[in-house]
Amino acid sequence: CGIVGYIGNNDSKEILLKGLEKLEYRGYDSAGIAVMNDNGVHVFKEKGRIADLREIVDLDVSANAGIGHTRWATHGPPSQANAHPHQSESTSLTLVHNGVIENYDILKREYLQDISLKSDTDTEVIVQMIELFVKDGLSVLEAFRKTLKLLKGSYALALLDENDNETIYVAKNKSPLLVGLGSDFNVVASDAMAMLQVTDQYVELMDKEIVIVTKDEVTIQTLDGDVINREAYTAELDA
Ligand code: GLU
Repeated sequence: CGIVGYIGNNDSKEILLKGLEKLEYRGYDSAGIAVMNDNGVHVFKEKGRIADLREIVDLDVSANAGIGHTRWATHGPPSQANAHPHQSESTSLTLVHNGVIENYDILKREYLQDISLKSDTDTEVIVQMIELFVKDGLSVLEAFRKTLKLLKGSYALALLDENDNETIYVAKNKSPLLVGLGSDFNVVASDAMAMLQVTDQYVELMDKEIVIVTKDEVTIQTLDGDVINREAYTAELDA
């Protein structure tokens, strides 16, 4: 299972698919990507191999930002509906997740009584909660932060907001996630190997950090919004 993301000047689809292929060795049962352009977010996901996903990706959709996921099912059987990315009810927010949210059922009962969920996953609870807090008046960043503070368990997350196609939001806790730096682009990956095709400069993320990734900037914050400065390291091509 793994996560990739790209935001920059090039088309993201092939970069994401290649990245997911590099993570295949970790094992997975489903795969998906979401790409974002001026027309919104387009989700392609499938049970099975990345080769199967490639067949359903519409090559005519060009998009400079996107996220990708390989799933190792923990909550809900492998299926197209349970494959990631998952979207909020209005479909304005799109999320991929590796890990396990231990209190997802409590959160679902406490916050999402009125929402009909489209999957059996713990992951969908996260994206629906973020939307709920946005509807309450918070910005996406604030809603993401508020949701993360309520989660118990492990996560590597990448989030797209259809109303801002220049940002990928990222966070992690007890699941691996890195941000890779390029010129005129930045990437996200569970493992540097996934994105060595485009950059060898990576910034490690610590648990309970939020990262705001644009094509020109990477801003790491604590869950309380304090900005953290951290140097990149050079990843070696040894795997
Ligand atoms: N718990 C999530 C699910 O079952 C994510 C699993 C994973 O890490 O791939 O969908």
